[in-house]
Amino acid sequence: MNSMRHQGIGMTSQRTRDRLIRRLQEQGIHDERVLEVMRRIPRHLFVDEALAHRAYEDTALPIGYGQTISQPFIVAHMSQVLLEDGPANSVLEIGTGCGYQTAVLASLFAQVYSVERIEALHQQARERLAELEIYNVQLRYCDGIEGWPNPSYRFDRIIMTAACSEVPEALLQQLREGGMMVLPFDSGYDQTLTRFTRTRDGLEREPLEKVAFVPLLPGLD
Ligand code: SAH
Repeated sequence: MNSMRHQGIGMTSQRTRDRLIRRLQEQGIHDERVLEVMRRIPRHLFVDEALAHRAYEDTALPIGYGQTISQPFIVAHMSQVLLEDGPANSVLEIGTGCGYQTAVLASLFAQVYSVERIEALHQQARERLAELEIYNVQLRYCDGIEGWPNPSYRFDRIIMTAACSEVPEALLQQLREGGMMVLPFDSGYDQTLTRFTRTRDGLEREPLEKVAFVPLLPGLD
């Protein structure tokens, strides 16, 4: 990769990224691991070059195919929540999109698994992660409603970056006991970022905050 593009200039520079980190701290992101990784990862490489100068604004941006890259605060917040509740090694992400959240997770967890139902986004994310030499991620082009294609896998954490009104059964099956899942839950009226913890007796549910995500869609595109 062209190193100028990699390092960024002007609105994509390290200084711009440092400003984003200060904003995240003001918004209540306190986990140093999350702040450190977001300070380091060049978010502008995950959006179209024409939008690169806006990559460090605290806003969602279009990534094509009617999808969006999540707002930095949401990426930071979901990552911070996933790091709570003790040690975790593996995380399954539903909705790879541009791969930015995936790249952030790759620095925070030993093993990252991520699935996407739009093949072009899946391919693009694969290329970007390879360019950044991120190797502890496995990507699949498949329907996340069915979970990870190998049903015997159990994950410590699951993150979904698309909104659903019912937690897919396959995901519940693939969350280990004591594990935690974070997703935007759609009541039909509004969306609430929600944490589900799998206990011996079932599922504990904790609403976190109002959000706006694209919907979880069934099948392949
Ligand atoms: N974390 C991503 C978010 C992308 S938006 C980013 O910041 O870029 C949500 C993504 O979920 C979209 O790419 C969409 O195609 C994907 N998605 C929606 N339903 C899905 C499903 N059933 N299985 C896998 N991916 C899905």
